[in-house]
Amino acid sequence: MPLDLVLLGPPGSGKGTQAARLAAKYGIPAIATGDILRAQVEAGTGLGVQVKAYLDRGELAPDSLVIDLIRHRLADRDTLRGFILDGFPRTVPQAQALDVLLIELGRPLDAVLYLDVDRQSLLDRLGHRAEIDQRSDDRPDVIAHRIDVFLDQTAPLIDYYRQQSKLRLIDGMQPPERVAAAIDATVGSLP
Ligand code: ADP
Repeated sequence: MPLDLVLLGPPGSGKGTQAARLAAKYGIPAIATGDILRAQVEAGTGLGVQVKAYLDRGELAPDSLVIDLIRHRLADRDTLRGFILDGFPRTVPQAQALDVLLIELGRPLDAVLYLDVDRQSLLDRLGHRAEIDQRSDDRPDVIAHRIDVFLDQTAPLIDYYRQQSKLRLIDGMQPPERVAAAIDATVGSLP
């Protein structure tokens, strides 16, 4: 049976760190839509040109583009044993499209792990990250906007997946190794 997971959480909640660790542990790909879109922007592809302005402003790229991207990515053979989605879905229409796609593929999600971190910690973490890396969306005004976009457009997915009994809450305020342990305990207890 494949292990199909979604990591849900606001910007700066540690999804990328935990997704990479889970990918190594289970030998399945971590699929981060933000990374894929940034790579397209850097490579100057048609898709990159279409999404650059959204990324720079901290707005979400159009659902149709991102859904298409995921549909193609989940057709790759390296996902046969499972996948970890990091940063997708981010809107209710994206979640609905993913449900349809996974029904077609006959492989429902095993769980949605929600990394819960308070707003001030997110601002602190992302402000710190901005000092080390070179992301065009890690400016203070854009950081605050990305958190608002999360609360507005992505937080409704908490209830969406709670209603499907897929949601698992993880305390993301702990140090990374404690978050990892909480995730491992949750994944280990999945049916
Ligand atoms: P963060 O979670 O820190 O905001 P990401 O790398 O996940 O970082 O996302 C960066 C940007 O990429 C987002 O602000 C948005 O513009 C775009 N993006 C990523 N995933 C999606 C998605 N599922 N739908 C729409 N836009 C997305």
